[in-house]
Amino acid sequence: MNSDEKQLFDIRTNEEWRRLGATAENRPTITINRAEVPEHIQHLIPHVERWAIGCDVTLGDYFDQQSEADINEFFHAVSPFREAIDQWVDESPQTDAKTYFRIMLAAHCEADCHRSGRERAKELQAKLATNAARPPVTKQPDADGYLRCPCCERVFTIRDHIVWDGHRHRCGQRIIINLHT
Ligand SMILES: [Zn+2]
Repeated sequence: MNSDEKQLFDIRTNEEWRRLGATAENRPTITINRAEVPEHIQHLIPHVERWAIGCDVTLGDYFDQQSEADINEFFHAVSPFREAIDQWVDESPQTDAKTYFRIMLAAHCEADCHRSGRERAKELQAKLATNAARPPVTKQPDADGYLRCPCCERVFTIRDHIVWDGHRHRCGQRIIINLHT
């Protein structure tokens, strides 16, 4: 058997799956039969055809390549209809359209994660900038280099170069180190 052939219970890393072709470029093309979709959510069909990607690796890859604006647009277009879609996909009988809408809902959760991740990063960035603009504070570390940051109140040692760059604590606060009493 070819070692690249997919086997049941086979566990591969995302990198391996990419090498085997699970990438955004060769994602399957989806066409949804409009007649299978209730009228009040038919306008979402283009979103489903674009974002209903069942393979997690391909979906992750696809998200990485889409613009922030497109991901936001997808998120906000679907959000008000989530409940309606949830109800509809659970009703019998099952159809291909329902399957694709269900897959799209998973992508919608992913879109939410991307958004909130970016928002958190922005907030953190803003906080860092605010702290960095504060005036420097002179502090005297103990014998092991430990001191309490006057801004975020965290105790750290100036020997830890991950949190201390020689001028600023990780929170952005400038500190003038006074080694003499
Ligand atoms: Zn700090």
